[in-house]
Amino acid sequence: MATNRPDLLLMHPPAVFDFRERPLNHWMLSKAVDTKPVFEYYPVGFIAILDHLEERGRSVRLANMAVKMQARRFDPRRFIREHEPLLFGIDLHWVQHADGALSLARLCKEEHPDIPVVLGGISSTYFWKELIQNRDVDFILRGETTEEPLAQLLDCLEQKRDPADVPNLIWRRSGEAVENPFIHRPTLLTTRIDYQRLFRHWRRTRDLKGSLITGQHWPVYCANLLLFCKGCVENCAICGGSNWALGLEETPLWDIDVLADMCLAARELTKFPIRLPGDIRQGDWRGFLAALKRRNFTRGMHFDIFQPGDADFYRALADAVPEPQGGIGPVTHDEKLRALYGWSYDNPTLERSIEDFLSVGGKMDLFFYIGLPGQTKDSAKETTDYCLRLLERYSTRGRDNKFDAYVSALAPFIDPGSLAFTYPEKYGYRLRARTLAEHRALMRQPEWWDTFNYESHAMSRFDLAQAVIEAEARVTRARRDLGLYPRRYARRDLKRLEQESARLEDSLLAGASL
Ligand code: SF4
Repeated sequence: MATNRPDLLLMHPPAVFDFRERPLNHWMLSKAVDTKPVFEYYPVGFIAILDHLEERGRSVRLANMAVKMQARRFDPRRFIREHEPLLFGIDLHWVQHADGALSLARLCKEEHPDIPVVLGGISSTYFWKELIQNRDVDFILRGETTEEPLAQLLDCLEQKRDPADVPNLIWRRSGEAVENPFIHRPTLLTTRIDYQRLFRHWRRTRDLKGSLITGQHWPVYCANLLLFCKGCVENCAICGGSNWALGLEETPLWDIDVLADMCLAARELTKFPIRLPGDIRQGDWRGFLAALKRRNFTRGMHFDIFQPGDADFYRALADAVPEPQGGIGPVTHDEKLRALYGWSYDNPTLERSIEDFLSVGGKMDLFFYIGLPGQTKDSAKETTDYCLRLLERYSTRGRDNKFDAYVSALAPFIDPGSLAFTYPEKYGYRLRARTLAEHRALMRQPEWWDTFNYESHAMSRFDLAQAVIEAEARVTRARRDLGLYPRRYARRDLKRLEQESARLEDSLLAGASL
């Protein structure tokens, strides 16, 4: 198969398609997730799709358009024109990509009107009824695990059959939307996230940028991100990835031996710690740690810790993994607001847990949010005070520092499908967007504070932006002084924050009223 005629051309769009021409001040939106404002990470599921389809003899071309388009010379239209796959695939996983995904679909249709386009991901699943009205989109694959339905769809296209039996698929018959049963939701995951395959893809296509899962952090966050599960047993108010939001009765978990093998393989490719999103206590965590030990795993690993753990759990982590790292999101200092968000633990429990983790040699980071249900300006300030107190108490200054903490904006969106999105009044929110088209329009706003899909009864989006700028500046100074953040970056960020503050004031004076 010629390289420009793969079975599937799978593309990750930039958040806003014409970001190179539009002046967008979106820096603060992506700061918390440490990407550029185009949100260039593609879903890890891309690699699982690559693995599953190539195992079955299919050819797949990945193209991270969000990374490729950062080079001004790169012409996305020409790239699409030069490819003639059986099927174009585009992820619309995070709703931030609404504009990028739909613009890319339009481009595919303009260049190749007869080649079908499929969209997939969490946001495609949530907004499928709106998406199927769009003539640039032929198929939507719902669900969090779509490797096998995608394989079946390719078979149908090759054999020119109706895809009536492809599970999870939304398609059109004689112009009418057809909803195939949403039944492919495996709870035991065995597909491999095989970074070796990704490296082979890169060598084959001679396209490093197009293969990258991320741009600016290559190779740090390329070959070391694996998942423990999809979905989540917790029910944080703003999260679209919870079982509640996804309509899952059971959390899909990776087979622990497959996962331990993947950890071992990733260790061969990178010297960096392996990140494992999804608290392992959602599954057989003892079995998983034992599987790592059996394989003599010798690499740092970063674990999500949803609820504070006890000393036994942390000892078990330290016994299985050298240099365990953990991330906890208490989100606020206020225990009542934390409970409204979805966590019911108190601050003494949190602090005990930090101490237990540090005492086994672990490294811990905490994150707090501004924009939470029920949060006021005063409460946001007190959250920052609390964050600074914890930094002062637990960080040890210098190279061996094992504690860090951040405050950032809950931005730009509370997730469509989440509890707070579904019942905004109950959480004290006013939604500024409900449909996909409305979210797309918000992401095209030039200023980051105008992109928010919510305001709360206690804080307008301008209050929120002001609180975020203040908190970021205070935490940046504290982290600089504690040696947690290099001085030159802190100087750059503080200058930028001053500019943001002035822009926000100008915007308020101009009476912005989107
Ligand atoms: S935000 Fe809450 S519900 Fe969502 S994945 Fe994290 S812990 Fe789970």
